[in-house]
Amino acid sequence: MPKYDYDIGIIGGGAAGLTVASGSAQLGAKTLLVEKEKELGGDCLHFGCVPSKTLLKTAHVYSLMKNSRKFGLPPVEPPPVDFKEVSQRIRSVIGTIQHHDSKERFCRLGAQVEFGRPTFTDEHSIRLSGNNYSAKTWVIATGSSPLVPPIRGLDKTPFITNREIFYLDHLPKSMIILGGGPIGSEMSQAFSRLGTRVVVVNRAPQILAKEDPDMADAVKDVLSSEGVEFYLGASIEEVSDLGSEKEVRIKTKQGSMIRLKAEMILVALGRGANTDGLGLEDVGVKFDPRGVNVDSRLRTNLKHIYAAGDINGGFQFTHAAGYEGGIVISNAIFHLPRKVDYTFLPWCTYTDPPLGSIGMNEKSARAAGIDYKVWMEEFKDNDRSLAEGETVGKIKMILDDKEKPIGVQILGPHAGDLIGEWVAVLNGKVKLSTLAAAVHPYPTIGEINKKVAGSYFSPKIFSEKVQKGLKFFFHLKGRACAEETCGE
Ligand SMILES: Cc1cc2nc3c(=O)[nH]c(=O)nc-3n(C[C@H](O)[C@H](O)[C@H](O)COP(=O)(O)OP(=O)(O)OC[C@H]3O[C@@H](n4cnc5c(N)ncnc54)[C@H](O)[C@@H]3O)c2cc1C
Repeated sequence: MPKYDYDIGIIGGGAAGLTVASGSAQLGAKTLLVEKEKELGGDCLHFGCVPSKTLLKTAHVYSLMKNSRKFGLPPVEPPPVDFKEVSQRIRSVIGTIQHHDSKERFCRLGAQVEFGRPTFTDEHSIRLSGNNYSAKTWVIATGSSPLVPPIRGLDKTPFITNREIFYLDHLPKSMIILGGGPIGSEMSQAFSRLGTRVVVVNRAPQILAKEDPDMADAVKDVLSSEGVEFYLGASIEEVSDLGSEKEVRIKTKQGSMIRLKAEMILVALGRGANTDGLGLEDVGVKFDPRGVNVDSRLRTNLKHIYAAGDINGGFQFTHAAGYEGGIVISNAIFHLPRKVDYTFLPWCTYTDPPLGSIGMNEKSARAAGIDYKVWMEEFKDNDRSLAEGETVGKIKMILDDKEKPIGVQILGPHAGDLIGEWVAVLNGKVKLSTLAAAVHPYPTIGEINKKVAGSYFSPKIFSEKVQKGLKFFFHLKGRACAEETCGE
């Protein structure tokens, strides 16, 4: 049997790689973790979730200050934002979390951490900074990078991506965001609230393409009402550098050509897998532009090499990367065959209000040919939402033809957290009647979960049939007042 230096080698120290490294090291596997940047943590910590959510919170507070009168407070005119200060706060939050993702911590857990860019030299070995390392099992967890499509002129025009946007030295006066996905949408709101004039250009006719149009359009309406300008169904024809301004020439949905100008361009047009330089083609690991090809156990065509996280072109979320890391541990360390199952993988876009989702929405149910029904409740009917000044949004519960819940979408305050209850309900196969009967604290936004489940039972319980039955058995006398005398 060949002898290897390590039981498991992991390339990439982000959400997926760190999950595998921490699990395998703690289970007693001799673990090597290789990261190309100077610090561990990956995109989520340095250029993704953490900085974006920190920025969104800052923008939210600034927007509350400007809208103080909505809350019965004196008007406030806050001075303009100094983005250096905002960026400093972002760095400070990252710094705090960085301790958890430090080389020292992983060393204490038992993993060896090396920094540099490795290349596979054979199926079991990599070369890194002049040294060779071999491992029985390898995990590719190198994540993704912003896609920069071949738009005419873009290669000659300065632009920013998620790698630069949180570290700007000043607040741009204006910004054109190319792409209306989650990153484009979140950043449009954050910068617009901070005082940047923002225009979003999106090829699809709706933002947040995976979501149901009614939900995505409601997010867009909120952003528009806050001043974000949208060109949907528009194609980007050409980009050029005019010096202090950049120009984006677009063809609108109606076919007219428009020249948009702004100080900065943010490219948020999707993500590409980080496969470059790994030598995958030399050792025969199959991949395509979407990412490294894997089976349902996350094994590549070479069964001892796994690919987890954004790199495999699946769901591009930190929690998906973490989940996939767990699947790899199960297969590679415990040797317990475990397949991925994304049926109830939740996600959330953290606009204000946020849009959270789990399971199927109407779009995916229709595409799967499922005969579904939708039950809805609106946040304007939730007492706590009203108290909080949060009246936009709704919850949609999707039931299949057997009246079993197959998905929930929530556009409203704390949607990402509210989805948590549905994570338990759907994964735990909790009956809707249990959720509808369970007592929720009042007044909470979460009561909307109970209410939408209850709305399914209400017509059945308060039906004419039940009334007749009760009348027959218990001699109930019926209405105490005539309907026409009730008034409005
Ligand atoms: C702006 C933005 C906001 C986001 N917000 C959210 C959110 O709110 N919630 C959410 O769930 N997800 C969010 N995401 C997505 C999330 O960041 C990713 O899905 C997640 O980071 C994927 O984890 P990963 O381990 O696959 O990749 P990463 O976390 O990117 O880790 C990959 C690591 O591999 C390293 N690497 C790359 N190439 C090499 C190489 N050749 N050699 C060695 N190391 C290498 C990289 O430096 C990196 O450290 C956001 C993404 C962005 C860009």
